[in-house]
Amino acid sequence: MTKKRVAIIGAGPSGLAQLRAFQSAAKNGEDIPDIVCFEKQGEWGGLWNYTWRTGLDENGEPVHCSMYRYLWSNGPKEGLEFADYSFEEHFGKQIASYPPRAVLMDYIEGRVKKANVRDWIRFNTAVRWVEYDDTTQKFTVTVHDHDKDSTYKQEFDHVICASGHFSTPNVPFYEGFDTFNGRVLHAHDFRDAREFTDKDILILGASYSAEDIGSQCWKYGCKSVTSSYRTAPMGFKWPENWEEKPALVRVDGNTAYFSDGSTKNVDAIILCTGYKHYFNFLPDDLRLRTANRLAAADLYKGVVYVHNPRMFYLGMQDQWFTFNMFDAQAWWVRDAIMGKIEIPTDKQVLLADVAEREAREEESDDVKYAIKYQGDYVKELIEETDYPTFDVDGACQAFYEWKGHKADNIMTFRNNSYKSVITGTMAPVHHTPWKDALDDTLEVYLQN
Ligand SMILES: Cc1cc2nc3c(=O)[nH]c(=O)nc-3n(C[C@H](O)[C@H](O)[C@H](O)COP(=O)(O)OP(=O)(O)OC[C@H]3O[C@@H](n4cnc5c(N)ncnc54)[C@H](O)[C@@H]3O)c2cc1C
Repeated sequence: MTKKRVAIIGAGPSGLAQLRAFQSAAKNGEDIPDIVCFEKQGEWGGLWNYTWRTGLDENGEPVHCSMYRYLWSNGPKEGLEFADYSFEEHFGKQIASYPPRAVLMDYIEGRVKKANVRDWIRFNTAVRWVEYDDTTQKFTVTVHDHDKDSTYKQEFDHVICASGHFSTPNVPFYEGFDTFNGRVLHAHDFRDAREFTDKDILILGASYSAEDIGSQCWKYGCKSVTSSYRTAPMGFKWPENWEEKPALVRVDGNTAYFSDGSTKNVDAIILCTGYKHYFNFLPDDLRLRTANRLAAADLYKGVVYVHNPRMFYLGMQDQWFTFNMFDAQAWWVRDAIMGKIEIPTDKQVLLADVAEREAREEESDDVKYAIKYQGDYVKELIEETDYPTFDVDGACQAFYEWKGHKADNIMTFRNNSYKSVITGTMAPVHHTPWKDALDDTLEVYLQN
């Protein structure tokens, strides 16, 4: 019998989790399918593969990276630790709880280097189109190999889409943007907070990007932050040069006008207005259409595309849990593809599963409820595979404490430390408080 062929789209944390899942089965002596991972960037790591570029990359592809130079983990690392590869194993010691981007990237890479899966990835290869043929029950994937500057097609039995959903910016227009006397940019294009030193900045949005980009700019010496919300303020105890305002109405010259009648003169406007699930390489019958929520639409068990159960999606939910949730999903998808888990053949059953998840998510908008909801999802998936079990409730606990620390002081929450649910070791307190740690290179961060 010929081996099944599986295409994975993207070598970010989700795609890499899928490669590691298959490699772990191969290591256990199982006969795994042929795996090909297409990655449009020249390196792995997805959003964590930092670039100074914005707009288009060196191949003319839209730049994927939405991360910035001084980004530190926005949640405790104890909530995302791989169950099969601890921070202590990677760094040879326990490290503080909110690592900067470069440190987390090093950790992500460490596991896949150890697993030796790089040869499964075709870098600089953008997926252009995917089609499914009902008769042959195969997918045809068309890609552009930028190294050879040529396109080709290959057939697969399964496609796993792990292309991320925090890369295509949602960009609103407000009256006066086109004549604003300063820079208007989306968070996707924000790279270096030092650009805004001594500037008055206006941030639109009230979610993670707004909170973190504003905090970055504050840390690196902007003159003031004005953040504008549409529904509710973020409500933290802000430093004295940070003010929250209701909705922006329009801009005239450098003056921003808000719905409460107040105004503010600003030098730059940063749109922290979210991202779109955007798959320009997928036809209507395979393309996920979902809001950014915990129970993503049309995904049985959060991963199987209900309209074609040979197609899978990883990491498409809104995320409290990240790396370990992607692992839980990847191990489950691997077992479904390898026939160890059965996907119901009755579409009504698949749809009922989605409806149940949606209804349960909608029962409460309490943050603690949402964290536990996703923790329970992670538990549900790992119980069905051989992914190493870990104390998911303990990880939820770290998230609850994190929320409390943010409410206490939004500019000091990253100075706290938590206990690893994988090794049981307490993280050390970092040598420098976050607000004073202007050099966040891996070498400096890892100093004792
Ligand atoms: C600004 C920001 C800060 C964040 N901070 C944190 C944090 O502190 N902690 C945390 O845990 N999470 C954080 N996240 C969440 C983040 O979503 C996850 O950590 C993780 O990167 C998601 O992994 P992914 O593999 O699903 O997607 P991505 O990381 O987006 O990777 C997707 C990959 O698919 C590739 N790809 C896309 N389209 C194609 C195509 N057509 N052909 C071939 N390849 C393609 C991309 O090049 C990319 O490599 C943050 C997200 C953002 C935007």
